[in-house]
Amino acid sequence: MKYAHQSQFIDGQWRKPERDQTITVISPTDERPIASVAAASPSDVDAAVAAAGRALRAPEWAGLAPEDRADLLNRLADELQANTADRAALTTLQNGMPIRLATSAEGQVPVKLLRYYASLARTTQIEERRPRVGGTGTTMVRREPVGVVGMIVPWNFPQALTMFKLAPALAAGCTVVLKPAPETSLDAFALAAAAERAGVPAGVLNVVAGGADIGAYLVDHPGVHKIAFTGSTAAGREIGAKCGRLLRPVTLELGGKSAAIVLDDADLMTTVQGLASSALLNNGQACYLSTRILAPRRRHDEIVEALAAMASELTVGDPMEPETRIGPLVSSRQRERVESYIAQGKADGATLATGGGRPNREKGWFVEPTVFGDVDNSSRIAREEIFGPVLAVIPYEGVDEAVAIANDSEYGLGGTVWTSDHGKGLDIARRVETGSIGVNFYALDVGAPFGGVKSSGIGRELGPEGLAQYFQLKSIYMHG
Ligand code: NAD
Repeated sequence: MKYAHQSQFIDGQWRKPERDQTITVISPTDERPIASVAAASPSDVDAAVAAAGRALRAPEWAGLAPEDRADLLNRLADELQANTADRAALTTLQNGMPIRLATSAEGQVPVKLLRYYASLARTTQIEERRPRVGGTGTTMVRREPVGVVGMIVPWNFPQALTMFKLAPALAAGCTVVLKPAPETSLDAFALAAAAERAGVPAGVLNVVAGGADIGAYLVDHPGVHKIAFTGSTAAGREIGAKCGRLLRPVTLELGGKSAAIVLDDADLMTTVQGLASSALLNNGQACYLSTRILAPRRRHDEIVEALAAMASELTVGDPMEPETRIGPLVSSRQRERVESYIAQGKADGATLATGGGRPNREKGWFVEPTVFGDVDNSSRIAREEIFGPVLAVIPYEGVDEAVAIANDSEYGLGGTVWTSDHGKGLDIARRVETGSIGVNFYALDVGAPFGGVKSSGIGRELGPEGLAQYFQLKSIYMHG
């Protein structure tokens, strides 16, 4: 076992949990145990929430001016930046993300987010005076931190998705109890250690490891003021229902089944090379991927063929190797799930153009990049989120039908339009019911809101809109 992590991070201290339960992290690449992580008990969560509640009001935190908080965010960014390579490797070790992607998405993005929200903390107006409408006097509108935030994150981009939440929460003056996914807790503790070194006051960031039970306990906790969740739609529905009952603000970033609309005039090579990342990034384990490829019927075969050639040429292998494009899936359970969808696609009569099996490796939860052609949008592989390297090409007649198929989905998170006419691409992007969409590429912008419509979620992260989720507003009416 490479790592043994025995404590939780609560109130600025490393504490042994109250009960004796451990989470074993298994390497997705060689199936060997890599870490034993002590799991928190409900009483540890109680202690973490209490510490976050005290820190919220403590002068060391509540007394900081926004500029001081910005300095602290930048110090945390410096700490993380100094460990970019190690943190990237930690993600790859735990979830099988190709190391080149991990270096940017997990190593660099959290640093970028901290610096971006540090700059917003400096410029966001905390108190604003407005003249009363239709009367004398003024009203002061104040932005106050929403309070103690419970953050629950998944394993697919653990460090980036944590920072989508943590950076704006700290910029707003909130305090945090973070529960990472059991598959990826090591990086959350590495973050806590970095926060300690950066001088983040005790209780401002607390980390408790555990599974869905500990997550559910945190969601219900009376000392929590807001929940920020990224994960599956099923868990999101449960969390949303609980928060509704508790009248607790909640942001939910959930699943997706986004469409790539390939127009008649799209350049084949640009489209297919672009889809190698927009549709297959992180071994197909990203929520916004364009996994339904909508192809004009007359170009269907040509597009399927080119996608199959691209997918079969992607280097599948050890995710620690820089040339690897497709690593293993995160767990054997995830591989079973993906393989059951591949079997379903075949049973439903879709044409398997490439992949469908396991690559020739002795160990690891690998699945070959897989492309299906002639897929009907009503079939399960077109409707349900697979979360693996499996693409479904769906033929369409005319742009209106393409938009209708794109919108005929329970989800609405990402999407792409591929065309040599930028203006036309933009027109179509406007018509797709989704929270984000790219023309001829797809890449999140830290400065612009990200989130879903329909079953893909509620609320937005990133941009100033992401910061607004961590403020509550108070109006102070002043006579005269
Ligand atoms: P999951 O929902 O099972 O788990 C996510 C996190 O929630 C984990 O920390 C887990 O322990 C916790 N959890 C699970 N059930 C819970 C409950 N009832 N109450 C409280 N906490 C609970 O998801 P997963 O399978 O680990 O992650 C993959 C899913 O996440 C995919 O469906 C994917 O689409 C989604 N995802 C969405 C986004 C986005 O931004 N929209 C980003 C990444 C992943």
